[in-house]
Amino acid sequence: MTQLPDRVEVVIVGAGFAGLAAATALRAAGARVAVLEARDRVGGRVWTRPVGAARFDLGGQWIGPGQRRLAALTERLGVATFPTYTAGDKLLDDGARVARYKGAIPALRPLELAELHLALRRLDRMMARVSARDPASSPGAAELDRATVAEHARRIRGRRVRALLDVAVGAIFGVEPAELSLLWFLAYLRAGGGLLALSEIEGGAQERRFVDGAQTIADRWAAELGDAVHLAAPVRRIAHAGTGADAGVIVTSDRGAIAARRAIVAIPPPLAARIELDPAPPARRVQLVQRAAMGAIVKVIATYDRPFWRDRGCSGEVVSTRGPVALAFDNSSHDLRQPALLAFVQAEAARRWLTAPGHDEAGVLAQLARWFGDEARHPSAVAVADWAAEPWSLGCPVAVMSPRALTSTGASLREPVGRVHFAGTETATEWTGYIEGALESGERAAREVLRAI
Ligand SMILES: Cc1cc2nc3c(=O)[nH]c(=O)nc-3n(C[C@H](O)[C@H](O)[C@H](O)COP(=O)(O)OP(=O)(O)OC[C@H]3O[C@@H](n4cnc5c(N)ncnc54)[C@H](O)[C@@H]3O)c2cc1C
Repeated sequence: MTQLPDRVEVVIVGAGFAGLAAATALRAAGARVAVLEARDRVGGRVWTRPVGAARFDLGGQWIGPGQRRLAALTERLGVATFPTYTAGDKLLDDGARVARYKGAIPALRPLELAELHLALRRLDRMMARVSARDPASSPGAAELDRATVAEHARRIRGRRVRALLDVAVGAIFGVEPAELSLLWFLAYLRAGGGLLALSEIEGGAQERRFVDGAQTIADRWAAELGDAVHLAAPVRRIAHAGTGADAGVIVTSDRGAIAARRAIVAIPPPLAARIELDPAPPARRVQLVQRAAMGAIVKVIATYDRPFWRDRGCSGEVVSTRGPVALAFDNSSHDLRQPALLAFVQAEAARRWLTAPGHDEAGVLAQLARWFGDEARHPSAVAVADWAAEPWSLGCPVAVMSPRALTSTGASLREPVGRVHFAGTETATEWTGYIEGALESGERAAREVLRAI
């Protein structure tokens, strides 16, 4: 284990993509940094593990068009990408029947299709009026922030169309539409290019994956930072200390304390709230952070000897409005050495997973069998990541804002508290909630600190 230094210029809390981005930018500007990471690995919500004969992502795994920082980083570190498998038919399971379809829009009746297009166009128009940087300053912000996405969705009459929106919201946020501020939802869509872009594979956020997994990027990047990264060092307390030219912070972790001029806390807001700040943060920040709740997603990867769903002309992609699995994908390794299916259990179903028996691997495999035949019941290996049960994430993919949070206390999301600055994908204004957003937030926090020191 690396020895903690007594003093650096900047301590960064968290070695996810936001923390690594901040550390790299500060280092490039000549600052001495220490990155303190609670887990015994880097990458945070990006986590790659061997399953069967290949390495698979149990956290973030896709990169899409417009994610320029991540694309540049990946290229620089020599991590190759490959397209998500899409050949063949997709399936829509509405509980009553399983229908095949091609293209981006699921198999619906003509009236339902028209209603879906209308709903998407309406959302695009509303999104265009909302600022991703400062949603509370958008026209009509107060009214939008009083509503939930579920209230907005009541305008949609078709039950199946509403159910599809539920699936999309569950997949993107890990919560039900009733839990989300409409204003925050629109700002999030704006930051990532719209609901369709966030939901789609081709031309969307799920377009490509990383050979050997996304954590390879974090591992190679952390190696460049060398002994500045300290693992198994959860930070518990940050105290302001000294005055004038000596003013700084003392960051206390389970592996000891480090003195620094500034700290960057690059972790999700609910985890940041657990770090004791001295003096205590302003009440408006405390209030905001209490309104940011982590979503819940269980990611299940099942490996097989053959990609039998491909033989049936299926792409492996399924949208299901009956639980527990809401979405499935072909997640085979790039060289098909290890065929695999990926299933997402999300939002309310993921929370039930935590408590109710019967929501288990067997239930997931039974659903895969309903779509792809009995072979699906017999995987060679299964890996399950229940992110809500991860103590250093508390959920995933992102912390979401409840109604009235942004317009009352939203300004404190990125506002430094004394000499403590905040990063993490939740604070991003481009691709909020994604790896790209984490990178943007880390770079922004590093610029703040450099201006200050
Ligand atoms: C299942 C899943 C699927 C996803 N899919 C995608 C995808 O396909 N594409 C995409 O772009 N994004 C995806 N995401 C989201 C993406 O992974 C995150 O947006 C991104 O990784 C967040 O990075 P971060 O640095 O902001 O936070 P994190 O990755 O959460 O990093 C924070 C780090 O801080 C550490 N930490 C926490 N508390 C402390 C403490 N007190 N002291 C020290 N260290 C601490 C944590 O261990 C962690 O390593 C997904 C996430 C999940 C979980």
